[in-house]
Amino acid sequence: MHEMSIAGSLIRIVESEMTAHGLRTVQRVKIRHGALSTMVPEALEFAFEIMTKGTLLEGAVLDFEKVPLTMSCSACKATFSPEVQNLHFAPCPTCGEEFGHMVLMGKELHIEHIEGDT
Ligand SMILES: [Zn+2]
Repeated sequence: MHEMSIAGSLIRIVESEMTAHGLRTVQRVKIRHGALSTMVPEALEFAFEIMTKGTLLEGAVLDFEKVPLTMSCSACKATFSPEVQNLHFAPCPTCGEEFGHMVLMGKELHIEHIEGDT
């Protein structure tokens, strides 16, 4: 379960943000994750809960915002979001080209913001 290591880096980032902004507690952490990132929100929540037990982050809520997969066609440069989340078969709705598209959005995994008290 690689969510354990994601939770570990998430906690490190949140802790350094807390220090940077003088936060004593954190209520909410908003995470943006692309449709292509392999992270499973439920698994990350579970790992986060276990790993923050007894720390200042205990009880913080994780909010997830899913970023849809968006591609740019390799032939006509049209931008589109394939319904099937599959990089290997994503025909362009404009010209039908199936290969070599560039992924514009959908791979990201980052913290959007942290809500807490000073
Ligand atoms: Zn196209």
